[in-house]
Amino acid sequence: MTGLVNKNNDSFASDDVSEGCQDKLAFDSKKQADTAKVVAGLQHGAKLKAYLCKKCQLWQLTTNYD
Ligand SMILES: [Zn+2]
Repeated sequence: MTGLVNKNNDSFASDDVSEGCQDKLAFDSKKQADTAKVVAGLQHGAKLKAYLCKKCQLWQLTTNYD
Protein backbone atom coordinates (compact mmCIF):
# COMPACT_ATOMS: atom_id res chain seq x y z
CA MET A 1 0.00 0.00 0.00
CA THR A 2 2.83 2.38 -0.74
CA GLY A 3 3.35 4.80 -3.56
CA LEU A 4 0.14 6.73 -3.21
CA VAL A 5 0.65 10.46 -3.20
CA ASN A 6 -1.93 12.79 -1.80
CA LYS A 7 -2.02 15.83 -4.04
CA ASN A 8 -4.83 17.44 -2.13
CA ASN A 9 -3.03 20.63 -1.21
CA ASP A 10 -2.86 24.18 -2.45
CA SER A 11 0.62 23.93 -3.93
CA PHE A 12 -0.73 21.70 -6.67
CA ALA A 13 -2.58 24.60 -8.28
CA SER A 14 -1.16 25.77 -11.58
CA ASP A 15 -0.36 29.35 -12.45
CA ASP A 16 -2.00 28.77 -15.82
CA VAL A 17 -5.38 28.60 -14.16
CA SER A 18 -5.67 32.23 -13.23
CA GLU A 19 -9.34 32.98 -12.87
CA GLY A 20 -10.34 30.63 -10.10
CA CYS A 21 -11.06 27.52 -12.13
CA GLN A 22 -10.08 25.38 -9.19
CA ASP A 23 -12.77 27.02 -7.13
CA LYS A 24 -15.48 26.16 -9.62
CA LEU A 25 -17.26 22.95 -10.25
CA ALA A 26 -15.71 21.14 -13.15
CA PHE A 27 -16.92 18.11 -15.05
CA ASP A 28 -15.39 15.64 -17.43
CA SER A 29 -18.35 15.68 -19.76
CA LYS A 30 -21.11 18.01 -20.90
CA LYS A 31 -23.63 15.47 -19.69
CA GLN A 32 -22.32 15.75 -16.14
CA ALA A 33 -22.27 19.53 -16.33
CA ASP A 34 -25.81 19.63 -17.67
CA THR A 35 -26.98 17.37 -14.88
CA ALA A 36 -25.44 19.67 -12.27
CA LYS A 37 -26.94 22.63 -14.07
CA VAL A 38 -30.42 21.16 -13.80
CA VAL A 39 -29.93 20.34 -10.12
CA ALA A 40 -28.73 23.87 -9.38
CA GLY A 41 -31.71 25.24 -11.22
CA LEU A 42 -34.11 23.13 -9.19
CA GLN A 43 -32.47 23.76 -5.83
CA HIS A 44 -31.43 27.38 -6.17
CA GLY A 45 -33.32 28.70 -9.14
CA ALA A 46 -29.96 29.43 -10.68
CA LYS A 47 -29.78 29.96 -14.41
CA LEU A 48 -26.49 28.46 -15.43
CA LYS A 49 -24.83 27.59 -18.69
CA ALA A 50 -22.40 24.75 -19.25
CA TYR A 51 -19.29 25.60 -21.22
CA LEU A 52 -16.01 23.95 -22.05
CA CYS A 53 -13.27 25.86 -20.27
CA LYS A 54 -10.33 26.60 -22.53
CA LYS A 55 -7.94 26.72 -19.60
CA CYS A 56 -8.56 23.48 -17.79
CA GLN A 57 -10.36 21.63 -20.61
CA LEU A 58 -13.19 20.70 -18.29
CA TRP A 59 -16.85 21.54 -18.45
CA GLN A 60 -17.81 24.28 -16.05
CA LEU A 61 -20.93 26.23 -15.21
CA THR A 62 -21.28 29.97 -15.56
CA THR A 63 -23.96 32.48 -14.78
CA ASN A 64 -22.63 34.85 -17.40
CA TYR A 65 -24.60 35.22 -20.58
CA ASP A 66 -23.25 37.25 -23.43
ZN1 LIG B 1 -11.29 26.17 -16.20
